Amino acid sequence: MDQIADLHIHSRYAAACSDKLTLENIDRAASEKGINIIGTGDFTHPKWISDIKSLLKEAEHGMYRLNEGRVNFILSSEVCTISNPDGKGAKKVHTCILAPSIEDSESINSAISRYGNLSIDGRPVLMTSAEELANAVIDASPEAILFPAHIWTPWFGALGAMSGFNSMEDAYGSAAKHISGYETGLSSDPPMNWRVSKLDNYSMISNSDAHSLPKLAREATVFDLNGQTYQELASSIKGKKGIRMTVEFYPEEGKYHYDGHRNCKISLSPEQSKRYNGLCPVCRRKLTIGVMHRVDDLADRSPGYAPKDSPKYVHAVPLIEIISSVTGKGQATAQVLSTYSNLIKKFGSEMNALINASTDDLITADKEIGKAIARIREEKISVTPGYDGVFGIVDLFKDAVPQKENGQRTINEF
Ligand SMILES: [Zn+2]
Ligand SMILES: [Zn+2]
Repeated sequence: MDQIADLHIHSRYAAACSDKLTLENIDRAASEKGINIIGTGDFTHPKWISDIKSLLKEAEHGMYRLNEGRVNFILSSEVCTISNPDGKGAKKVHTCILAPSIEDSESINSAISRYGNLSIDGRPVLMTSAEELANAVIDASPEAILFPAHIWTPWFGALGAMSGFNSMEDAYGSAAKHISGYETGLSSDPPMNWRVSKLDNYSMISNSDAHSLPKLAREATVFDLNGQTYQELASSIKGKKGIRMTVEFYPEEGKYHYDGHRNCKISLSPEQSKRYNGLCPVCRRKLTIGVMHRVDDLADRSPGYAPKDSPKYVHAVPLIEIISSVTGKGQATAQVLSTYSNLIKKFGSEMNALINASTDDLITADKEIGKAIARIREEKISVTPGYDGVFGIVDLFKDAVPQKENGQRTINEF
């Protein structure tokens, strides 16, 4: 049975995250989005795990629910490890952890608290290597699942340009065997990742990394599970089986797709930045090398390569962005929010509206929004790529220019 999962989010206890990220609000918003299994995020934070313990009850093995809750919660967290193994500068890696129970989460917390103060931030900073972290987590909870978060982002992605790691073995050393999958992040999508054969043995999953309620499920993974237990989900990720589809951002919309300098307002494709030798034409300092460039550096396959029997993927644009763009009104305005809730009522969830509903039904419900969703599904929209922390800009009504050089628009799988 299809189960839509978003396994990497944050709580109100993480830096730069919305106060509204409470368990009750997450439950409601995740259900509107069409999510069946949501990560709690931040189980490493003492206050959040205490909220979890007082409000969630185990429904199935490792799946927790609020009283009269609508979605299943799974214990999840993201941590940032910082180490300087060769003395050549700090290496920072974000790793996501899934735990099979509240008790295991607490064992993990006590094992990793020796590396840093878990109460400062819902995404704690730990002064240790990603390798030591992963070994400590598995020692404390052998059934835990570990995967690098947003694997390609420049500063904190395990394979990002600034991490200096070129493979899972580089990043996680002896603990690489404990890594089951990886997260594409907003700035990359499956065709980009398929170009890197050393990732073939890892499950590719997508999550929102939401810092506020509206961002939940902006990326997600559709699992085909027999039951609804942690073990089912874990063995799917570990065994690369039962992953039916990922829901992806247009990777250009991600904020690290291209190379560039935010302050200098410089955005460059990998080819352009290579022509400048990786230096900013305005300030002459090193450019922030984005995800497209980094994937290209580590790729051993041509753009357009698609493995047989890989899970499907769809590119989606969040419904609130679509409504805002069609109406020309801000995303938080009353008109946009009321159109959003009408469409959710009509189609049951945002995922249903974006992915499952027929174009005819969408157009009957709202002509312009229906046409916009059809254009997104047909990959006809244009996106100005994001760079150095600046999100890309979606233009739903401008036709895309095929980007054959990177192969992103040559494959269209629905
Ligand atoms: Zn992160
Ligand atoms: Zn610059």
